[in-house]
Amino acid sequence: MIHLAQCLCPARHCIVAAAYDPATRTLGVEGLRAEVARIVDSGNVDPWCGLCGAKRDSWTYEDGVTRWKTIEEARPFLEELEAAQQRAALALRARRAAERN
Ligand SMILES: [Zn+2]
Repeated sequence: MIHLAQCLCPARHCIVAAAYDPATRTLGVEGLRAEVARIVDSGNVDPWCGLCGAKRDSWTYEDGVTRWKTIEEARPFLEELEAAQQRAALALRARRAAERN
């Protein structure tokens, strides 16, 4: 079964998520934690939640089993989840920009 490892802020906004098949990849909570540290340290991801501003030291990590047997089966749901997160982030940025003006 496909696993979903997530880095979440205290409000459960997803900072980073990775779906993986444990038959072909080892990730889990510690693997994702290391990956998040690498990408945040590289400057590719801000060290705060883009939606609520929660700082990196408050983020938590989870790894769960999904209902999907393959990555291909999970892909439409994962893409919709990512699009929804992007829409929420854009709406929040627009609202903040409007509040500043
Ligand atoms: Zn947040």
